[in-house]
Amino acid sequence: MSKRPKICIDRVLPRDSMRFQPSVRRGGRLRAISPRGKTWINGSTLSVRFLDGSAAEQAVARQQAGWWAAIANLKFDFNNAPNADIRVSFDPGDGAWSYVGTDAKSIPLGDATMNLGFLDGGTAAHEFGHAIGLAHEHQNPAGGIRWNEAVVIREMAKSPNFWDEATTRHNILRKYTADQINGTGFDADSIMLYFFPATWTVNGVGTTANEVLSAIDKTFIAGAKMYPGVGSPPTSGTALKVNAARRTEASIGKAGEEDLFSFAASKDGRYVIDTAGPTDVVVKLFGPGSRTSLIAEDDDSGQGLNARIAADLVAGEYFVQVRHYNKRGGTGKYSIAVRKL
Ligand SMILES: [Zn+2]
Repeated sequence: MSKRPKICIDRVLPRDSMRFQPSVRRGGRLRAISPRGKTWINGSTLSVRFLDGSAAEQAVARQQAGWWAAIANLKFDFNNAPNADIRVSFDPGDGAWSYVGTDAKSIPLGDATMNLGFLDGGTAAHEFGHAIGLAHEHQNPAGGIRWNEAVVIREMAKSPNFWDEATTRHNILRKYTADQINGTGFDADSIMLYFFPATWTVNGVGTTANEVLSAIDKTFIAGAKMYPGVGSPPTSGTALKVNAARRTEASIGKAGEEDLFSFAASKDGRYVIDTAGPTDVVVKLFGPGSRTSLIAEDDDSGQGLNARIAADLVAGEYFVQVRHYNKRGGTGKYSIAVRKL
């Protein structure tokens, strides 16, 4: 009898299918994948509450969460706060799963946002990977696994999963579309990839369970799209005037540095934020009235390597975060403007 994988479910809220915005990306530069719009703001400290579990189980979770915190510009505070960002249960009857990134904010405070029903190998690191915004590597649109769909559906219908076809299609066979995620390429060593038997594929090439962060996991999570640099997010933004006569000039002097801008949308409507200049910048738009609710992000939709976001906004205050694509050596001048159409 073949060994069957323990599959984790990354819970994706249905409303998100409406939030993804297409953008232009160059291939091959990023690995690992993150659904767009689910990352926490860079430099965040995420509070964690254990809803149950033994001291030993909690210690494993703390330790493996620390693998990410050692690399990414994110911290975990295991303070068991009632309103903690991440709430972990250890129910052995409920498998291992986690909501992805900021989706956890939509879950009622009394409920778990992650379950660690088993702790084999790097399971806790894998689930904390979801909690900070990573998706399953086997659902990478760049492929890498050539499923024998009939076999996968048949095997997952057996004990202990008893999944129907729709569930198996959602959790295993479905791939993200390229515009739903950040990151390209398939990383066979990612902690976000599970063990799958070779007999589940049409080409006889299975995958191995990866129990530590891969080199690519580390590069991606500390990269420009995720949590680069060190330090806390800026506390106040440079004000941008909507429809200003001149663009606002800015410069990123230190590699890894981020700039924060704010603007007031006085009326509901469609707004365009764009950058200009010779350097490659990534722009994220947050709001209204919040520095942590991500509305949109963009890398290269503008001129050259510049970013452009067009979004329908309700009146309110918005924040724009700009960072250079290349964390090392990414410095230089650019200008930014916001217009109401
Ligand atoms: Zn998972």
